[in-house]
Amino acid sequence: MNDQYDVVVLGGGLAGLTLSLQLKNAKPDISILILERRESEAATAAHKVGESTVELGTHYLREVLDLKGYLEKHELPKHGLRFFFKNDTKEDIASRVELGPRLRLPVPSHQLDRGTLENYLMKLTRQKGNRLELGAKVSGVDIDAASMHTVSYIKDGEEKKVTCRWVADASGRSSVLKRKFQFQKPMEHHANAAWWRLKGVIDIDTWTDDKEWQNFLEPNLRYLSTVHFMDSGYWLWVIPLGSKNTSIGIVADPAVHPFDTFNTYEKAVEWMRVNEPLAHKMLVPLGEGDGLMDFKILKHYAHHTQKVYSTDRWGTAGESGPFLDPLYSPGTDFIAMNNSWLSELILRDLAGEDIETRVNVYEQCHLALVDAWIPIYQNKYLLMGNTQIMVIKIFWDWAVYWAVPCHLFANKAFTNISILRELFASKKGLGRKFGQLHQIMQDLFLEWLPYENQTFSNRYIDPFDLKVLQKFQQDIEVQHEPAELIEQIGKNMNLLEQLAVAIFRLVNAQVNGASPDIKVNPYTINLGKKEGAVMLDTESENAIVPSEAVMKDVDVMWFYPKAKEMETA
Ligand SMILES: Cc1cc2nc3c(=O)[nH]c(=O)nc-3n(C[C@H](O)[C@H](O)[C@H](O)COP(=O)(O)OP(=O)(O)OC[C@H]3O[C@@H](n4cnc5c(N)ncnc54)[C@H](O)[C@@H]3O)c2cc1C
Repeated sequence: MNDQYDVVVLGGGLAGLTLSLQLKNAKPDISILILERRESEAATAAHKVGESTVELGTHYLREVLDLKGYLEKHELPKHGLRFFFKNDTKEDIASRVELGPRLRLPVPSHQLDRGTLENYLMKLTRQKGNRLELGAKVSGVDIDAASMHTVSYIKDGEEKKVTCRWVADASGRSSVLKRKFQFQKPMEHHANAAWWRLKGVIDIDTWTDDKEWQNFLEPNLRYLSTVHFMDSGYWLWVIPLGSKNTSIGIVADPAVHPFDTFNTYEKAVEWMRVNEPLAHKMLVPLGEGDGLMDFKILKHYAHHTQKVYSTDRWGTAGESGPFLDPLYSPGTDFIAMNNSWLSELILRDLAGEDIETRVNVYEQCHLALVDAWIPIYQNKYLLMGNTQIMVIKIFWDWAVYWAVPCHLFANKAFTNISILRELFASKKGLGRKFGQLHQIMQDLFLEWLPYENQTFSNRYIDPFDLKVLQKFQQDIEVQHEPAELIEQIGKNMNLLEQLAVAIFRLVNAQVNGASPDIKVNPYTINLGKKEGAVMLDTESENAIVPSEAVMKDVDVMWFYPKAKEMETA
């Protein structure tokens, strides 16, 4: 059998399999070997996580990889992310503040049974002509920048060797290349997770007899959401799977919920009894007998990296590079962006192009994006017991995500060097401003925490009641020419700046008793509670007033008296 390849992919999980398909679709005569240590097919439902997809990763699976047909037939459609917040009557789900879409969504996403999906991807990659070896454990990689690399692996007790032009490390947490070249980087964000699968369908609509609450959404829609039950320091997920099983997980900050309070199934059950009594009552009986399909844990799951792509013709894909946090389900998004950068490098190199500039630009962009994403999570589990702050944070995080990264990805901008230069090269570039504004808002949420402690009940908030969110989401896939795209990102940034100011004015009025009607420079936003804080700029030409429409949107997410009422109070 041929023992020389264009690309050897280390690991056949989601990242490795999708990378192999992306490359093969683009260049049918490429030769690819995927080495996967698992002996046989993946188990249905159990063991892997990565079940809930959001817009960017969904676009990748459906449009870039053309898996729309498979996804619609074999996996579940998803009805967005849904959150239930802390209150004093958690036994009554209908009384908790609920955030999530009410009506069917125009933009698709999916709940994936990872076993079913990976088995399909394995079949597909072979059908397209890629070689996939199961039971093949990679035992060594020799990178030879001047010639061909050598990959060694053990199969059936024997060591084999193959040579290749490119090595793509998709070995997940085994991180073959990161360990070999020692390019790990400390990650400050700390959280732990435990998850398990239960046999059967769990529909939270049946967790109450309250007909009005049940009928507020079309039947089956709550069931199709990724459900989050939240309180200080944690969230508990419930995700339906196409195989008619259900995925449950606890994700928590050890500062509030030490890992040893939920790192075995028995402890997780007890943890639910204390923190989520209704989930305990409804889920525990289903785990009895043979109902419990698996139980997995991961301590300090977030990890970082100093390198992703190399001019020596290797790259990392998926979790063998950086991984941040499962909140908002961005795992597949990162696989999508990462695979698109890596594919572009491989394809251009195979076409004889010098890829040095692209390696540097893509790596900088990838790592900058990861760094900009960290503040979404770092210390933010402390906010999870605060409904008002979390509602605003979730809306802000979605607005930012849809308006910039999703829109850029759907327009193939992340691999377009001139667009990336335009966005990120100068300090005043829109990409840099985006990162700055996002960090300022994440800091605001933490600064606000000591001043906001109200518990709320009996409310439903639909993100799509906010026109600005609705528009950002609906426009993700609208295609633009490069110049027009930059202009559109500029308009989106302008809306984000207005949104930031509109949120800040209400928070500042509540915390500092300031007028809710002031002009504010969004890049100076802070509550003045921290030593060395920058002066709030309310005077210069950079200070802005949000439009009426944006203020109206922000009023939807504000649980206290509305802006106008505060002004007259
Ligand atoms: C708690 C938690 C919840 C999550 N929830 C979501 C979610 O809802 N949505 C989402 O999009 N993402 C989610 N993620 C992220 C998601 O799990 C990852 O993005 C995804 O699984 C990474 O895929 P991968 O292919 O990189 O790694 P893996 O799926 O781990 O694949 C790596 C493969 O490499 C193989 N391998 C390892 N070492 C070797 C070797 N030496 N030789 C040969 N093969 C080898 C392994 O057998 C494996 O098949 C979650 C993550 C966590 C921690």
